Amino acid sequence: MIITLQPGIPAQQREQVQGFVSQLGFSTTAVSTQSGEYLVAIGSREVDLRQVHQCPGVKDVHRVTDVYKLVSRTWKVKPTQVDLGDGVCIGEGSHTVIAGPCSIEGEEQVAKTVDFLVAQGVKAMRGGTFKPRSSPYSFRGLGIEGLKMFASIAHAQKVKVVTEVLDASQIDAMLPHVDVFQVGARNSQNFSLLDELGKTRKPVLLKRGLSGTLEELLQSAEYIFSKGNDRIILCERGIRTYEKAYRNTLDLNAVPYLKEKSHLPVVVDPSHGVGIRRYVPNMAMAGLMAGADGCLLEVHESPEQALSDGAQTLSFAEAEALFRQLERLHEAREQLRLA
Ligand code: PEP
Ligand code: MN
Repeated sequence: MIITLQPGIPAQQREQVQGFVSQLGFSTTAVSTQSGEYLVAIGSREVDLRQVHQCPGVKDVHRVTDVYKLVSRTWKVKPTQVDLGDGVCIGEGSHTVIAGPCSIEGEEQVAKTVDFLVAQGVKAMRGGTFKPRSSPYSFRGLGIEGLKMFASIAHAQKVKVVTEVLDASQIDAMLPHVDVFQVGARNSQNFSLLDELGKTRKPVLLKRGLSGTLEELLQSAEYIFSKGNDRIILCERGIRTYEKAYRNTLDLNAVPYLKEKSHLPVVVDPSHGVGIRRYVPNMAMAGLMAGADGCLLEVHESPEQALSDGAQTLSFAEAEALFRQLERLHEAREQLRLA
């Protein structure tokens, strides 16, 4: 059960509600986010929700039978919009492109990419400075200095910075420079990292694990929300299957499913999802038509020279063509929705 409390409820009144609910056989967790205060009540007894509703300080009560609670759509009718400021808002009704290199490689690369994105009307840039690599001998990113450089160039043009955090110990240093913390597929169930991101007020783009189920993804999102951060974006980035023809299998079924089960925005990463450059545009468009609220695209001025993931990275010309197609397709999608 999710109990939404009146905004600014006095602590004593909240404790009274908790006391009442625990008498009914429920354990409660109090959660306070930037947009609301909640009690998550866990228990198996059948209760008449009206009993809880009449407690002073209670605004609303919903029974949530999903294993995840706060991220469930059951109690929240309106989908969540994650507002990054400067007109960049990720959620239902829009389609936000987040584009940039797999790895931040240097100042010139960042400056050229930012200029390119600004000219294209793309307002959020991705780029890793802490890279999770299968081999420890591969390029592992420019670290915090690279992030500072990336952020200063991007922010000078009001471009939002989306970058991966690998470990909880990096959060404090990264915080002032980041607009969205990306949690990579390999960290999708790193619960101590999720807990710590939950204590921040920064948006989190949470990727699905390589072999993670959607229920696991939603429970990972629940970790973040339950610590107080409700600014979460879910990302389908392909899963590992028996198919070896491409890098991963982009599970587009996940998009309508997640959007039905959760109020959180959902984006698709076709670059990692398929892993082959020439298939990326079609899969990005397919993600949009599946209902995604945005996509994450790897783009590089010269993909052949990229220090990571060049084979799945679009050139500027390829990206430009795709951005235009996505715009047109988004218009068509919204028209079809209204028709
Ligand atoms: C990335 O976005 O570059 C990345 C490492 O993604 P993933 O965690 O999905 O593999
Ligand atoms: Mn990559």
